[in-house]
Amino acid sequence: MQTFRIIQNGDDYLLPVYNRQKIVLMRGDGNYIYDSERVVYLDFFSGIAVNGLGQAYPEVVNAIADTARKIGHVSNYYYNEPNVRLAKLLCEISFAQKVFFCNSGAEAIEASLKLARKYFSRLGQDRFEIISFDNSFHGRTYGALSVTGQKKYQEGCGPLLPGIKFATYNDIESVKKLIGDKTAAVLLETIQCEGGIHPADQKFLKELRDLTRENGILLILDEVQTGLGRTGKMWAYEHYGIEPDIMTSAKALGAGLPMGAMLVTNQVAQGFKPGDHASTFGGNPIVSAAAVANIEAIILKDVVANSAKQGEYLKSQLAALIVEFPQLFTEVRGMGLVQGLQMTRDASSLVQKCVREGLLLGSAHATVLRFLPPLIIGEEEINLAMEKLRKAIAVELQG
Ligand SMILES: *Cc1c(COP(=O)(O)O)cnc(C)c1O
Repeated sequence: MQTFRIIQNGDDYLLPVYNRQKIVLMRGDGNYIYDSERVVYLDFFSGIAVNGLGQAYPEVVNAIADTARKIGHVSNYYYNEPNVRLAKLLCEISFAQKVFFCNSGAEAIEASLKLARKYFSRLGQDRFEIISFDNSFHGRTYGALSVTGQKKYQEGCGPLLPGIKFATYNDIESVKKLIGDKTAAVLLETIQCEGGIHPADQKFLKELRDLTRENGILLILDEVQTGLGRTGKMWAYEHYGIEPDIMTSAKALGAGLPMGAMLVTNQVAQGFKPGDHASTFGGNPIVSAAAVANIEAIILKDVVANSAKQGEYLKSQLAALIVEFPQLFTEVRGMGLVQGLQMTRDASSLVQKCVREGLLLGSAHATVLRFLPPLIIGEEEINLAMEKLRKAIAVELQG
């Protein structure tokens, strides 16, 4: 089909909940993606932090194809080998001792909210309140939407889930004020990503861990976007010398296939018994095999170290842009290969101009340019991205 036809049909038949760039992506190879007009794009978005290994990573492709030829979906009425391997692997590379699999970040958040309440209910304690944070993002389903601290996502959707309170991110006093004898858990992103790339302060997260322990409250970390090497550590919480009780993972987990997971300690796992929670597709053999191949490649190829190294380089390049264009940029925030460049204006026009220069990137919270390259990116690609970005900036400043 011709490009204009595909776009036309998309606009005719797809529910219009997205503002898409007017290109049709056809084929990918590592850090590069080609569209239907054979234009090549350097990928600094990774499908929203999903493709940590870039497009069409051979080991991942083989794992998917080999498994699909052998066995497809089986359901959780039975064991499947790739899924058991994945659960063991995730526990080996994190604080966790038990894993629940689902299909998305929002679904992992739902599981964590249910488990937090059920855990205390099983202990005979009437604790059900969840403390979340302003400016947070946890997904679009009702539970996840209810703990998302941004009015624009919630407007017109009420009534939402009761028992949710919002504190101020990086303000420990604001959390202390909300803790009571009904509090079950405190939930936060280790870096607020959709909210504009705001990392948690060292002191804040440490104090929050102490505060939740002292009060017998669970700490839930949402690492849906920051996990699996994105920040230059396997999990972002490792930067802080703390461990959560519950953690959500998704985006990069399935190497491009839909997968979410809730990782927990043995202690908290006691909150759920057979029948308490489920997911039809959760942890199916094909996506599990993809995730195993993904994590094995991350470990084998030292991808986390590359993320840390190239993240530093990217950050230094973005800092140089602030000096060069102070009228456009004011601050760079982030860790590893999740970096946000604060703009003095709406970022969407510059994002679009970058697409025209052959550079895919995103925005966050309207005025932040969001950089999420594959974790296999090298200095050469970062230099090329900066070249393309400078061309886009020149056009932006003309108009
Ligand atoms: C993307 C995201 C979610 C939601 O994940 P979906 O897979 O879109 O449901 C939740 N939390 C964070 C931090 C995210 O970045």
